[in-house]
Amino acid sequence: MTLDAKIPSGPLQDKWDKHRFDMKLINPANKRKYKVLVVGTGLAGASAAASMAELGYQVEAFTYHDSPRRAHSIAAQGGINAAKNYQNDGDSVWRLFYDTVKGGDFRAREGNVHRLAQVSKNIIDQCVAQGVPFAREYGGLLANRSFGGAQVSRTFYARGQTGQQLLLGAYSALSKEIGGGRVKMHNRKEMMDVVLIDGVARGIITRDLITGKIESHVGDAVVLATGGYGNVFFLSTNAQACNVTATYRAFKKGALFANPCYTQIHPTCIPVSGDHQSKLTLMSESLRNDGRIWVPKRKEDVTKRPETIAEEDRDYYLERKYPSFGNLSPRDISSRAAKEACDDGRGISATGYGVYLDFADAIKRLGEDAIRERYGNLFEMYERITGDNPYKTPMMIFPASHYTMGGLWVDYNLMSTIPGLHVIGEANFSDHGANRLGASALMQGLADGYFILPYTIGNYLATANIPKVDTSHQEFKKAEVEANEKINRIMSIKGKRTPVSFHKELGKLVWDKSGMARNEAGLKEALQRIPQIREEFWSNVTIPGSGAELNVALERALRTADFLEFAELLVHDALERDESSGAHYREEHVQPDGEAKRDDENFAHVAAWEYTGENSKPIRHKEELVFENVKLAVRSYK
Ligand SMILES: Cc1cc2nc3c(=O)[nH]c(=O)nc-3n(C[C@H](O)[C@H](O)[C@H](O)COP(=O)(O)OP(=O)(O)OC[C@H]3O[C@@H](n4cnc5c(N)ncnc54)[C@H](O)[C@@H]3O)c2cc1C
Repeated sequence: MTLDAKIPSGPLQDKWDKHRFDMKLINPANKRKYKVLVVGTGLAGASAAASMAELGYQVEAFTYHDSPRRAHSIAAQGGINAAKNYQNDGDSVWRLFYDTVKGGDFRAREGNVHRLAQVSKNIIDQCVAQGVPFAREYGGLLANRSFGGAQVSRTFYARGQTGQQLLLGAYSALSKEIGGGRVKMHNRKEMMDVVLIDGVARGIITRDLITGKIESHVGDAVVLATGGYGNVFFLSTNAQACNVTATYRAFKKGALFANPCYTQIHPTCIPVSGDHQSKLTLMSESLRNDGRIWVPKRKEDVTKRPETIAEEDRDYYLERKYPSFGNLSPRDISSRAAKEACDDGRGISATGYGVYLDFADAIKRLGEDAIRERYGNLFEMYERITGDNPYKTPMMIFPASHYTMGGLWVDYNLMSTIPGLHVIGEANFSDHGANRLGASALMQGLADGYFILPYTIGNYLATANIPKVDTSHQEFKKAEVEANEKINRIMSIKGKRTPVSFHKELGKLVWDKSGMARNEAGLKEALQRIPQIREEFWSNVTIPGSGAELNVALERALRTADFLEFAELLVHDALERDESSGAHYREEHVQPDGEAKRDDENFAHVAAWEYTGENSKPIRHKEELVFENVKLAVRSYK
């Protein structure tokens, strides 16, 4: 299969403008004739659904939540990047483009990333117009802070609740369209499958989470905005309901899955405290603007109270190793540095897997009130969870699964390898290469939803020649039967173990063998173990109740079943990518100073996997990455 990314020709700066001009338009009266199904109403889905409806398309939107406001996007804390250069500190579209390509360890498409940087400016204007309460300077201008992997301040924020405020903006835009009858909103409906007719995406199958009813929905195009798969590790900073089902089912229908091994481990989360936990909590990267990360220099000091450890006995390891970026080094690098210190026996916390994030200097310099103003809600959240007051004693943090750069492969138009199936936000393999920079996910999700998809989907609809079909078509009936059969099969097992216990076992295995560091032996071991866990799941899982009612155990079981297959794909990808790049750290490929060692000759490509059937190894395809504007270089933050 040849993967054509359809990147427009011409100079990088002009590609998007030229493409917008070249794409076919649909006149306003004709837009009403097309229906688009949008699955997912987080930032990406809500912004796309609202924008397309405002343009005039009929839109139906779906979420398994009881309201779009509950999407995981609401959890985003720190901020959203944009190349506005309000600080006059040297930022530009080009610098944001360059930082993102470099931050992703040169494993992203130049064309897409440049477009993202261009569009970033429009996002801020759009959100301000909606009334998103971004932080402001004394004089009224929007404020910025710094995030990892950048030496300029380009992150716009609303205290530590940026995702919530942006989502309220997108949700109000969506509500206007719902009120106007242009969006039909389906809450509490979970997508079970994509329906293809003659190889083209024409609809979806959903399960009503309240009644259990399986239903068909038809449209002229389908958009997946269903978020990331970070919960494959069980413990992660994602909301518990986040899952891979929508994208994995699309993969099984023929959409290629790109770079599944690129998963982001965030350096600043509250450490695991025991076996009882079902979720981890992020402490936003924004805290690294003022917090200093350290561990004791000597192993014997790890059990001492931090206040009693003298300045000269502390190792501010990020400032030491990466003086140019210091505590704002990118996430993959900062996470590995924390692991290295803990592996060296200098980790703090009861488990030995923790490092300090210390605000004492910032409080001395700026005063407690200034710090409270910037991070008050995060400090409060930390205190509620740990019982420690971070104004008085350093936070304890450790890396945890947080975001997934991998996702369904899409071309420049955000369309997958299934015609008509578009994928946006964290669900696509996106613009972040092997490592996403902080505050760039919100930027990408909203760029896709507000400014890119609404154009490109018009071109698809105008040129695709889509015949009329309805849900009585045999492909819908077949998919409904399959969805019901799967539910009946899982309900009839009546074994002894809960779905959560399987998810937990899988997550620990994937974390241990394919988490922050990976090696060939471990990955091969995981490939042996995953099918065994899967086999036991299908003979020993237990789910109370029935499929014809609200049944959260059933929801969890169906999602876990997909994780049990998807995890194997992730590990295959990690094994075949025999290099270290960004967050994918293969212990066999390390520079003399411990940094990740890329292999540009053999791996400067996107790996996109094709489903070949149950228990059969998927096929790996390549999209070669072409770098014409950025020189491939060893990534250095020293
Ligand atoms: C704790 C935390 C903090 C973060 N902070 C930041 C930050 O400060 N800045 C930043 O840039 N990024 C941040 N991120 C990342 C960012 O929040 C996410 O990448 C982004 O919000 C994802 O948006 P989305 O719209 O793609 O998906 P989501 O917000 O996850 O939405 C997914 C939607 O799909 C629906 N859905 C999923 N599957 C189905 C299905 N099968 N059927 C029906 N509906 C389905 C869900 O109901 C939901 O509506 C953070 C992430 C975490 C975990």
